[in-house]
Amino acid sequence: MKFETLAIHGGERPDKTFGALSVPIYQTSTFAFESVGKTRGYDYSRTANPTRKVLEDTLAQLEGGKAGFAFATGMAAEATVVHLLKAGDHVISGDDVYGGTYRLFQDVMTNLGLEFTFLRMNNRQAIERAIKPNTRMIWIETPSNPLLNITDVEMVVEIARKRNILTVIDNTFATPYFLRPVKYGIDLVVHSTTKYLNGHCDVVGGAVVTTTDELTQRVQFLLNAMGTCASPFDCWLVLRGIQTLPLRMKKHEENATAVANYLQRHKAVSKVFYPGIKSHPGHEIAQEQMKGFGGVVSFELTGGTKAVNHFLRRLEVFSLAESLGGVASLAEHPATMSHASMPPDYRAKIGIGDDLIRLSVGLENISDLTDDLAQALNSG
Ligand SMILES: *Cc1c(COP(=O)(O)O)cnc(C)c1O
Repeated sequence: MKFETLAIHGGERPDKTFGALSVPIYQTSTFAFESVGKTRGYDYSRTANPTRKVLEDTLAQLEGGKAGFAFATGMAAEATVVHLLKAGDHVISGDDVYGGTYRLFQDVMTNLGLEFTFLRMNNRQAIERAIKPNTRMIWIETPSNPLLNITDVEMVVEIARKRNILTVIDNTFATPYFLRPVKYGIDLVVHSTTKYLNGHCDVVGGAVVTTTDELTQRVQFLLNAMGTCASPFDCWLVLRGIQTLPLRMKKHEENATAVANYLQRHKAVSKVFYPGIKSHPGHEIAQEQMKGFGGVVSFELTGGTKAVNHFLRRLEVFSLAESLGGVASLAEHPATMSHASMPPDYRAKIGIGDDLIRLSVGLENISDLTDDLAQALNSG
């Protein structure tokens, strides 16, 4: 079955008990055994839950992986995945990963004995030079948040495979609709389902998709041992959102392209970051490995902090809010919001300036969006 069909029919649907077309919310902590030692497939909802299972199977099918796992948040998914490692192991991570990912690695996992090297993932030699005898994992995010840098997934996998290093991709921005990293040999795919997969800003959730039986077993073990799983209701909401993922992603991209083009022509804008723009350094790789460029556009204003504050205050259709990937358009200031957990000098080093603004372009009428940007930019 094709992607659009799997998004609607993935997993076991309709439900076996009564044929409910909408996946039932099995809001239960525990399940009655048939007899001692004999369950009906479920015993306790931390371990597994039938609503969660449909989401997990759907995610696995959409990514083309072995198994899917649904977590309470994207960070819960990431925290679980890094527990595949042990003290003394070394991880190479993109330097411009999501702020919370950086914080998890640098401020939490380092204390538990993991070692991290943060690196721009666009240079084969630099990645190879960073590999140490104890390197066990390479972590990438493409397009990255908030700079929309592009990583060549195939290149990273090729480097890692030769040395038996696990590869993990955060596929939140592209979603499996635009990027299928399993095709390139990635070992694990993680998501914040909070973003495009759910798509309606009404749930926080995460996911992991595995590609081998061994990884499936190990992730299932960790999810159960750590208790990082998603609730049945949240799984139901994400399932509901996923059904329209293909339609939404197409429209997000169409609107984002129009917004990027508009911003590029505006004299108050000094730089636009969008992989769909020909001059973007990752444009060619993005075009090769992705089916679309996504719905996030970042840009810099010429007028400094004052202009940034003025612009963000003036917006009416765009809400000033963190997060992204929902139907409603959002604008945010990475330096003080989504990426405030990165130290200022680190942010400056990787290119997240104080005059950077990130837009999550939603599904509103495009002229209302560009009109809103125009009135906020032109009123200064
Ligand atoms: C939001 C986000 C996360 C974290 O997910 P939560 O659901 O907020 O815990 C991780 N990676 C990326 C790329 C994100 O945008």
